[in-house]
Amino acid sequence: MIADRIRKIIKPAILASKPYSVPQAEGFIKLDAMENPYSWPEAVKASWLARLQQTDLNRYPDASVNELNTRLTHLLALPEDISIMFGNGSDELIQVILLALKKSSVVLAPEPTFVMYRLLSTLLEMNFIGVPLNDDFSLNLNAMLAEIETTQPAVIFIAQPNNPTGNTFAQASLEAIIKSAPGLVVIDEAYHAFSQKSMMPCLSTYPNLILMRTFSKSGLAGLRLGMLFGANEWIAEFDKLRLPYNIGTLNQVSTHFILQHSNLLEDQVEQIRNDRDQLLTKLSMIAGIEAWHSEANFILFRVAGAGHVHKALLQQKILIKNLHGTHPLLHNCLRVTVGTAEENSAFLSALTAILGV
Ligand SMILES: *Cc1c(COP(=O)(O)O)cnc(C)c1O
Repeated sequence: MIADRIRKIIKPAILASKPYSVPQAEGFIKLDAMENPYSWPEAVKASWLARLQQTDLNRYPDASVNELNTRLTHLLALPEDISIMFGNGSDELIQVILLALKKSSVVLAPEPTFVMYRLLSTLLEMNFIGVPLNDDFSLNLNAMLAEIETTQPAVIFIAQPNNPTGNTFAQASLEAIIKSAPGLVVIDEAYHAFSQKSMMPCLSTYPNLILMRTFSKSGLAGLRLGMLFGANEWIAEFDKLRLPYNIGTLNQVSTHFILQHSNLLEDQVEQIRNDRDQLLTKLSMIAGIEAWHSEANFILFRVAGAGHVHKALLQQKILIKNLHGTHPLLHNCLRVTVGTAEENSAFLSALTAILGV
C-alpha cells in the first residue's frame, strides 16, 4: 500500500538511489571526514558562549545575512561586481546551483572527485557526465575539452584541490576549461586553506566562473557554513532558490566570533599542514604503500587488500575512508584525514602492525 503510493509519486531517480551513509564514529579515532582535529582553548570557548548568551532565538535570523556579507566582502577585498551567497554548508550551494538548471541539463565533472556533484545531479534528474582524470590524477584536458564541445554542459564542477586525490590542477588547464565552457564553471575551493591557491583573482575576468568555499575543513565542520562567490547577476538568480532563513542566528553569531579569532584557525591549519607532510613522509616509507602528495588535509594511498586493511583498522577503532570500488582509478585506495600528532602515530602503528612490516 505505502510502497505503491511511493512509486506513484516519488521520482524514479530518488527511488533508485542509495542514501548517503555516514559511519558511526563514537569511540573511534576519526580520520575519515577531513575535520580539523582541534577544538578551541577554554578562554576562547568561554567568550564564544558569552556572545551566544546575548543572542535571542525568538526572532528569525537576518535573512540576507547582511553583516557577515559586508564583513567578508571587506576581508576578502571583493570588487563591486562580485557577490556572496551563504549556504548551509557548501553541499547546499551545490544543490541550489543544480536546482536552478533547466530540465535534464548536462552537468560535467572530472572523476574521481567529490561525490556530491554526481549524487545531487542524479537525484535532481540532471544528465551527469564524469570525465576520468589521468592516471596521475591530473586533468585530462583534451578529454575535458572534447566532452565540453560535444555535450555543451550547463555546469562544470571542479574541486581545487581535488577530493579524494588531494592534488591541485594546473591553473592553465582550469582557465582553458573556463574559456571553452558554454555555461558555468564552479571551482570548489573547499580545501583552499590548506593549498593556499585560489582563483578568486580571476572572478572578474571570467563572467562564467563561480567559486565555492566552506568553513568546514579549516575547523568549523559543525557550523555548516558554505559560500558562493560570483558575478552579481548569477548570485541574484541563485539567491531566489535559497530558503529565506537558511543560515541560523547561532551560525551567524558564531561565524562573526570566529572571524575575530581567525589567527586561531590559521595556526591550527598551519599545524595540520606540517603534520600532513610528516604523515606523508612516514606513510611513503612503509613497504607496499604508495601515497600521493596532497595539498589538502588528507592523504590518498594505495595498499594491496585495501578493504581488508580498512576493516582491520576499524577493529582497532581507527576510522578512515575506503575508496576501493568507487572508481577504477581508486583501485585499492584509502584516504586518511590528518589528525593530531598522536592520532597520526596511532594510525601509522596500527597500519604497520596490520601489514606486518
Ligand atoms: C567536504 C567538501 C565539501 C562540503 O563541504 P560542506 O561545506 O561541509 O558542505 C564540498 N566540496 C568538497 C570538494 C569537499 O571535499
